[in-house]
Amino acid sequence: MEIVIIGGGITGLSTALALNKVGIPSTVYEQAENLNEIGAGVWLQPNAIQVLQWLGIYRDILKEGCLLNKMEITYPNLKPIKRIKNQVVADRYGNQTIAIHRWKLQQLLYNKCDHLGIVKLGMPYTKHETNNGKIEIHFKHTTIQADLLMGADGIKSNVRKSMGLPSDFHTSGQICCRGIANIELPTYLRNEGKEVWGNKVRFGFSQLSSDSVYFFAVVNKEIAPKDITKKSLSTLFKDFDLIVKDIIEASGDMHVAELMDLKRLSTWHDSNTCLIGDAAHATTPNMGQGACQGIEDAYYISNILKNTNTSLAAFKAFENQRRKKVDYVVNNSWTFGKMAHSTLGQLALRGIMKLTPEKVMSKQMNKLYTVEGL
Ligand SMILES: Cc1cc2nc3c(=O)[nH]c(=O)nc-3n(C[C@H](O)[C@H](O)[C@H](O)COP(=O)(O)OP(=O)(O)OC[C@H]3O[C@@H](n4cnc5c(N)ncnc54)[C@H](O)[C@@H]3O)c2cc1C
Repeated sequence: MEIVIIGGGITGLSTALALNKVGIPSTVYEQAENLNEIGAGVWLQPNAIQVLQWLGIYRDILKEGCLLNKMEITYPNLKPIKRIKNQVVADRYGNQTIAIHRWKLQQLLYNKCDHLGIVKLGMPYTKHETNNGKIEIHFKHTTIQADLLMGADGIKSNVRKSMGLPSDFHTSGQICCRGIANIELPTYLRNEGKEVWGNKVRFGFSQLSSDSVYFFAVVNKEIAPKDITKKSLSTLFKDFDLIVKDIIEASGDMHVAELMDLKRLSTWHDSNTCLIGDAAHATTPNMGQGACQGIEDAYYISNILKNTNTSLAAFKAFENQRRKKVDYVVNNSWTFGKMAHSTLGQLALRGIMKLTPEKVMSKQMNKLYTVEGL
């Protein structure tokens, strides 16, 4: 069985490694000629970490990233809205969140795939069609055949378009600026992820490596500066703890984009093609779960394909398995982002956070972090 994966991002590369682990050969085709050092950081939460442990690459990731033993939402002066006990996540799931440069994670996954000879760069996919049970996959310069196709080509997926599925986006009205600052946080902040809430603005940060800090700044469109520069960002966050100003001042290139998600698709698959990761279910990043969900997809699709006779049955089972959790993430992330950026909504969220009993929080955590069979 020849499986082709379009897209060498976090989802596509993780899926190729997961398929390899269960003994199913596949090849990833990525449009980029080289994987360049672009992007900012990503927080990998315990659900993704469990899959990366299963793939045997946890130690490499830990070496390249920074272990965060506390994730906290705070007031502008860094006082937590709700105190979270250290170790509670690690005690339950055996691991905590890791902050890593997105490019380093992609590079690490790529190197593992390259070592196995299962990834090809410089292969821009254009479209596909099915002829006599085989899929003809067209790239800019060539055409190949395969039995199964997986679209891991991100939120703007061309595989999705070629399947005749819609590409409708849900824009949030919130502008996000992400970057890396060359700075070391004070010792007490070095192993913590913070999201600091102000009025219609949020600032998140964590150490990424010994000399770099990942940060994101989110602001409502109506109050966003026309030109997002270090100066305009500093003004926007002038009432926040001084560390925020220091991070902005030490930042390099910044990436600015409006936050959005993909409107829920009626299906992710047909008889021999299936969408995974952002191509199927791109979410706003307010729960820090987009890449984590793509990594979970890799685990489930590989195990389901191993244990199912036909691709159609496997893709159906995959969707059945994944829909509920992915919908939970996409919908909650959307609501959470909207509430955090409205005065009344934030007040309500703060109240909910303070009043939610540990037992309920624990249930929510289980929902998010449990990966069946791991
Ligand atoms: C501001 C922000 C912060 C985030 N923070 C987090 C976080 O803390 N934790 C988390 O888990 N997630 C986070 N995410 C989400 C995460 O970045 C995405 O969910 C994740 O990168 C999706 O991975 P993917 O591989 O599915 O898609 P992508 O990363 O989009 O990768 C798609 C790949 O396909 C390739 N491709 C595209 N078209 C073609 C084509 N025609 N032919 C061949 N190849 C093609 C692309 O070049 C790319 O390499 C964040 C997102 C944003 C916007």
